[in-house]
Amino acid sequence: MSNHVSGIPGSPEKSYKMMYSYLYMLKQVNPGTKTCVKLDDASKFKYLFIALGACIEGFAFMRKVIAVDATSLKNKYGGVLVFAEAQDPNGQSYPLAFAVLDSENLTSWTWFFEMLKSVIPDSSELVFMSERNQSLIFAIGSVFPEAHHGHCLWHLKEKVKWHAGNVNKVIVGHKFMELGRYYTVDDFNSAYDSFEKRYPAVYKYVQEHTEKDKWARVFFPRDRYNFDTINSVESMKSVFKEATTWALIPMLDCIVRKFSDWFTQRKEAVSRSIDTSLVPLVENYLHGLWDVAQKLSVREINSYELKYEITDTAGKMFWASLVEKSCTCKVWDYEKFPCLHGLAAYIYFTTNVDGGLNIHELCSKYYWTELWALAYDRTLCVVPDMSSWNVPDQIKEVKIIPPDRIRRKGRKRVG
Ligand SMILES: [Zn+2]
Repeated sequence: MSNHVSGIPGSPEKSYKMMYSYLYMLKQVNPGTKTCVKLDDASKFKYLFIALGACIEGFAFMRKVIAVDATSLKNKYGGVLVFAEAQDPNGQSYPLAFAVLDSENLTSWTWFFEMLKSVIPDSSELVFMSERNQSLIFAIGSVFPEAHHGHCLWHLKEKVKWHAGNVNKVIVGHKFMELGRYYTVDDFNSAYDSFEKRYPAVYKYVQEHTEKDKWARVFFPRDRYNFDTINSVESMKSVFKEATTWALIPMLDCIVRKFSDWFTQRKEAVSRSIDTSLVPLVENYLHGLWDVAQKLSVREINSYELKYEITDTAGKMFWASLVEKSCTCKVWDYEKFPCLHGLAAYIYFTTNVDGGLNIHELCSKYYWTELWALAYDRTLCVVPDMSSWNVPDQIKEVKIIPPDRIRRKGRKRVG
């Protein structure tokens, strides 16, 4: 990656001076984009927020689960770079907003979420996933009271496993992740009982220091789909690792450029799938189950509710309803596309009763190709070369003073 983009010099001070001009141009080429700069009382830079119009519009067609995380900036003024992102229905990172904050604290996180709320309204459908950072969680709770907050299962596992004493921590971590991912309360309870017996100290920690409705699928009160970690933000952070050492504008430009590339690539992926009604991830999943599903024994129980009894190859019975889009294994209920048994019922129904039902009607609309296409409908543009900028004088004249350098602050503390 190069930091010589858009003809912008890499000097950190220049980045602050030219910030308003850069943001003006970013908004010019990306209509609907929201940007905000917060200065302190001495007109020094404090926070910056950017949500690109194309991303905000696209999120309307996407599952309402947002992962949030921050990474340190390694430039001479420090601070943190924050990402809020969703996951597209095909399992890929979908950027929503990013920000630069002076550090992670209640005031900065509250400001960030207030900015986010100006483009993504609070709703009971909304779920935020993050690490267990208390100020972040508190800020979400106060700014988005309707939304639910969930802990990243992977990060929680990393904390939990250290309470395992002399037992193998990797296995304890693995067992904990499994607990978070059961689909039925019975399966969870039975595994949790065994967990208590095998690892009493870890069990005690989990009981006393975690809330199950924030990490265990069976107790999670909202639709979380298959999200239980913030690994996608982690990988986004690693994509921009080098850029976090640069001055602000080259870094922002690198981020916008990468997001623009993603939009272009995903548009191509969408156009390759336009003949199928479901996104490739779900299409391939159902395709993979098809052979087994069509061999399972299916018996009609209720022809009004399209309820069926399905017996799997091990002889275990399940009840699935094509009307309720639900199965007693609960996989369909949580994932929002048919489980093996639901698929068996669908194959039975279309073969024996009515061939007019399309499989995509049994999935959440968020997995429909047509909605996936809408998420990438707009083009995401990078700011053109500086030589072609056309910024009004009153914006050019507003200059931001850089914040205090972190090294200077450090020396003050030592002295
Ligand atoms: Zn099932």
